[in-house]
Amino acid sequence: MIVQKFGGTSVGGAAPIRRLAEIVARALPRRPVVVVSAVGGVTNELFRLGAQALAKTDWKAAHAALAARHRTILTELALDPALLDPLLDELAGLLRGIELIGEATPRTQDQLASFGERLSVRIVAAHLAKTGLPARAFDAWDAGLVTDSRFGGARPLPEAPARIRAALEGFQGVPVITGYVAKDAHGHVTTLGRGGSDWSAAIFGAALGAEEIQIWTDVDGVMTADPRIVPHAKQREKLSFAEAAELAFFGAKVLHPATMVPAIEKDIPIRVLNSFRPEVPGTTVVARLLAHERGVKSIASKHGIAVVNVVAAPMLLQFGFLERVADVFARHEVVVDVIATSEVSLALTTEPNARLEPVVAELAAFSAVTVLRDMALVSVVGEELSDSQRVQATVLGTLAELGVKVEMLSYGATRNNLSVVLPEARLKETVSALHERLFGR
Ligand code: ASP
Ligand code: MG
Repeated sequence: MIVQKFGGTSVGGAAPIRRLAEIVARALPRRPVVVVSAVGGVTNELFRLGAQALAKTDWKAAHAALAARHRTILTELALDPALLDPLLDELAGLLRGIELIGEATPRTQDQLASFGERLSVRIVAAHLAKTGLPARAFDAWDAGLVTDSRFGGARPLPEAPARIRAALEGFQGVPVITGYVAKDAHGHVTTLGRGGSDWSAAIFGAALGAEEIQIWTDVDGVMTADPRIVPHAKQREKLSFAEAAELAFFGAKVLHPATMVPAIEKDIPIRVLNSFRPEVPGTTVVARLLAHERGVKSIASKHGIAVVNVVAAPMLLQFGFLERVADVFARHEVVVDVIATSEVSLALTTEPNARLEPVVAELAAFSAVTVLRDMALVSVVGEELSDSQRVQATVLGTLAELGVKVEMLSYGATRNNLSVVLPEARLKETVSALHERLFGR
């Protein structure tokens, strides 16, 4: 069997959903399990609705617009326009609750966010059924996906794979399952974190022993750089999991970073495909590359990051400084991307929007801390870096020529990426110049 995951734009209207149905129909001999995201933009809209309800401003018009958007898709697909009314009413009830109580805990936020996927699976399954496929909508929790209770960033429990198999074993048709959402052991709705539908696809694929996990999106696959920065960026046919992991982690938005974990465990290839151009072969991510497939693959970039510089107080220059710093970040659950150290100091980059105030307060108790914001991270990724001085020289030479002030530089332990942190304002020109020198025009 295979897993076919469709992102927000691939379910974002009647025409994309018709294309989705053709893609699924062609895959029927491979016994597809379909995983879908919310209709494009709906998850953001749900969080906005929640914020409006919390602020006791009028959310009803926005709720009506969201309902209308889904009903339009139903109507255009000639499906029952009232199909989603029970769920849309339930959503209104939740918003009323938030407004009344004046509180939206992470648990409530997850409940709220879950409506996007719960709505979209029902549209997709109904359309597939109408075209003659034996499809049925599943909320992920009815398909066995059980997680811990970290609302907003839940992780599957060890028993999830067995539960998934048990839940789907007897079903002969095409399951259409909500990405992103799950429930914890107490039956509370959880989410896997933003962009988590890819991860859902990999979790289901690994549990069910898929021969391939297809991620259907609106780009042709992994590119040599972000096409919004480099319009002539080229497509990559094949990447290793190691390279894809670096790219995902360093901000290439094609795959959610956690997606690779279950796929690596079970050695399942992941194919990134474009549902708007299904004839394009996309990018395949595999465990191991052949010799001729090695090389510099891509320039990943991420803006809006912060650099935290930590300088040890002199009397603390002793064992355990690193550990103490790391512990503060870990306890506040702030993910650190890149670390550079010297004898007396430590520089760390963190994800955009990380909540740094409590981290800084704690660090300040035993060190001098400064935070630099509006920084960008640029990573040159490829397994070949390990034995290529050309790449290193090119990257450093380009930065010097452009006169870009490098805040941090890191050459990861795996030697699969060379990362530099620079001011966000210099990001575009740096990526463009690097692209030209590493991949040509
Ligand atoms: N709908 C969720 C989000 O927007 C999950 C996903 O699309 O992967 O984050
Ligand atoms: Mg996504």
